[in-house]
Amino acid sequence: MTMWVAQSVQQMRVHRHEMPGGLALVPTMGALHRGHARLMEVARTTGCPAVVSIFVNPTQFGPGEDYEQYPRQLERDLDLCRDAGAAGVFCPAVAEMYPPDVAECSVTVPALADQLEGRSRPGHFAGVCRVVAKLFNIVQPTVACFGQKDYQQLKVIQAMVDDLNVPVKIVAVPTVREDNGLAMSSRNVRLTPGGRKKALGLYKALLEARSLVEDDGELDPGAVEAAMSQAMTAHQVEVDYAVVRHPQSLATIQCIDPRLTGGVAALVAGKVDSVRLIDAMVLGQPATGG
Ligand code: AMP
Repeated sequence: MTMWVAQSVQQMRVHRHEMPGGLALVPTMGALHRGHARLMEVARTTGCPAVVSIFVNPTQFGPGEDYEQYPRQLERDLDLCRDAGAAGVFCPAVAEMYPPDVAECSVTVPALADQLEGRSRPGHFAGVCRVVAKLFNIVQPTVACFGQKDYQQLKVIQAMVDDLNVPVKIVAVPTVREDNGLAMSSRNVRLTPGGRKKALGLYKALLEARSLVEDDGELDPGAVEAAMSQAMTAHQVEVDYAVVRHPQSLATIQCIDPRLTGGVAALVAGKVDSVRLIDAMVLGQPATGG
């Protein structure tokens, strides 16, 4: 079957009408890599056709962030979607998603979204929730796949779906990494070879946290966080945050006891040569993933 490409909301609605039944959506901002391809594979394992959205969403970028510099390569992306067996791609223009004559709507999940990424990027998750809510209403998927690399985003979307009774099942997909452990990210193309080495500091910080929690039985979040920051700094990553949190609420924890919390989430963010990168890992769970 040839893969269709819809550039307007209207075209997307026609395609959805022609494929009744379940549908698995993979929302992306393009510049696709093996991590996105894995999301498409997982989407297809649901038994539903996979639809990929490609949209660099301006409302989730703040002033001075990298919206303009964000890599765009639609033709290559369409090839990757085809190779991954996607049934269709929805790739609207900005004016199609945000017509100037429509009043803005805001969806927020303050308890989860105001910290970590949300603190460093005010308004980021409101933009994410707004675009994901729009994509869900336009594409009308029954399933949507999100990566665990963007762990806080996954929790925010899950909370939005739970609270607003959105009839979409959220599937979490473990992080796909380069051979050396660096989490695949569209922003990696902006790193120099030297920058890629520095970026490994994020992964090393997560490994350090894992070893302290899982092998040494460290219970003090402060000690783990200090070691994570140190690993990042040693790789010349400018640390934004390096924390261990409750895996569901993302609340701070007084004591690391994976038996009580069902694991802990380690989350890191930092800049490498002005490129902002994030990564995450769940620790202390039988199948940690991510
Ligand atoms: P993005 O295009 O970066 O907005 O990401 C689109 C989706 O792909 C999000 O759900 C991300 O969490 C997911 N994703 C990005 N990188 C990876 C990766 N390395 N492994 C797994 N999922 C990823």
